[in-house]
Amino acid sequence: MATIPMPAPNQNILDRRTKIISSLLSVLPLDVVIYDVSETLAYDCDALSAYRCSPLAVVLPRTTEEVSAALKVCHELGVPVVARGAGTSLAGGSLPTADSVVLGTSRLNRTLEIDLENRFIAVQSGVTNLSVTGAVEGDGFFYAPDPSSQLACAIAGNIAMNSGGAHCLKYGVTTNNLLGVTLVLADGEIIKLGGAHMDSSGYDLL
Ligand SMILES: Cc1cc2nc3c(=O)[nH]c(=O)nc-3n(C[C@H](O)[C@H](O)[C@H](O)COP(=O)(O)OP(=O)(O)OC[C@H]3O[C@@H](n4cnc5c(N)ncnc54)[C@H](O)[C@@H]3O)c2cc1C
Repeated sequence: MATIPMPAPNQNILDRRTKIISSLLSVLPLDVVIYDVSETLAYDCDALSAYRCSPLAVVLPRTTEEVSAALKVCHELGVPVVARGAGTSLAGGSLPTADSVVLGTSRLNRTLEIDLENRFIAVQSGVTNLSVTGAVEGDGFFYAPDPSSQLACAIAGNIAMNSGGAHCLKYGVTTNNLLGVTLVLADGEIIKLGGAHMDSSGYDLL
């Protein structure tokens, strides 16, 4: 049973719900923005299901540019954003508040590049952990970090939580297998960290 109260939502944000949703709809395709309460209910918790709270809205972008557009709107309107992979966090990491917008990665589910010679694969952030192995196992490869939730959990969540499993005793956790990311900052700016090789130029921020 939940014993810690959820944070009180910001009434000023709740009062601007219509404006926030219309602003998101003005920069994103209609089917990317979910705001009907019967649909946002599906995002009211993660695997810490003792705590539940429907968000103000949910956006499910298909491209980095759509992620950027959504974050830019939320930043300008002062709306909190809760990123969500597959929602298997056991610690409430993707648990929304009533005044927040959930940014879900479930439609960012494409494999972008496979380079077997260099042991490199680029995927969008909503690809599930097991799908990464699925994309290369026919060629005798596998993606080593293997949380028990690997059938469901997304690479985005794995990176945020630095997840691992039994294989990590030999191959390291997520950070030891991650070469680079395309990152969208809270204000919508798109940046790249690392790259397709070890020891890319710039600071090692991964
Ligand atoms: C049955 C079960 C078994 C598990 N076994 C393991 C295990 O063996 N090892 C292990 O390490 N964990 C395990 N976990 C925990 C969980 O699966 C991992 O933490 C996993 O990496 C979470 O991935 P997710 O896609 O579900 O992320 P979510 O739960 O959706 O999110 C997790 C965190 O990542 C953040 N996040 C998600 N996407 C993004 C993004 N695009 N940008 C920025 N932040 C983002 C969220 O805001 C949240 O804080 C288990 C969970 C369950 C339910």
